[in-house]
Amino acid sequence: MITDTHSHIYSEEFSNDRDEMMQRAFDMGVQRIFVPSIDSTYTQKMYEMEAQYPENVFLMMGLHPTYVKENYEDELTFVATELGRRKFHAIGEIGIDLFWDKSRLKEQQIAFRRQIQLAKQYKLPINIHCRDAFDEVFEILEEEKSEDLWGIFHCFTGNYEQALQAISCNMKLGIGGVVTFKNGKIDQFLHQIDIKNIVLETDAPYLAPIPYRGKRNESAYIVNVVQKLAQLYNLPETEIAAITTENSRQVFGI
Ligand SMILES: [Zn+2]
Repeated sequence: MITDTHSHIYSEEFSNDRDEMMQRAFDMGVQRIFVPSIDSTYTQKMYEMEAQYPENVFLMMGLHPTYVKENYEDELTFVATELGRRKFHAIGEIGIDLFWDKSRLKEQQIAFRRQIQLAKQYKLPINIHCRDAFDEVFEILEEEKSEDLWGIFHCFTGNYEQALQAISCNMKLGIGGVVTFKNGKIDQFLHQIDIKNIVLETDAPYLAPIPYRGKRNESAYIVNVVQKLAQLYNLPETEIAAITTENSRQVFGI
């Protein structure tokens, strides 16, 4: 059994073949898919997917840093309201992204901190999005670090030292298509990281692994990530799947 800890199955990219996409994932043994939130415009579609696949789809709630806009206070209120209203499995994806827009750093920091507080309040893990913002993300994580803060550093693309720092902040590393890229860099040191700190993800429809790089990604392609990790850790693919699924259970509690 493979667990995809980060897949945007509600994306419009799948509007023509969503059910077939899900079936392909199941056929590959991907039986657990954790679904990060972006903003309130996608929530209804997430609930529909959960209703359709209640055994396989597990939802997160949160405001993505790239979607921190003028209305971010309203969006954060929405996040808090939904958390009070029903069950989620994590707060995510949350964090800081300075790749697309540096002008809202302050608002992104506020949103990140506030959602970390919600995670602590609801005793939920967080799913961190960090792009061109390691220093800014770690500044907040180090301040907020505590026994009741844990989760996943999604799409981890940092170096060895940053990997150790993330782990010291109770985060597991979300590893996906980037590990298969020739210039992805994390394949250089990942074998030095204990596999108990690794969970798998696709970030579909983005970041498809080799040999699909540049195309639409989907949860079924996680097997290409499993294959790569089997090489890096010199373990059978079934072991990689089992260990990383167990790691994901530790994070999400299911
Ligand atoms: Zn994502």
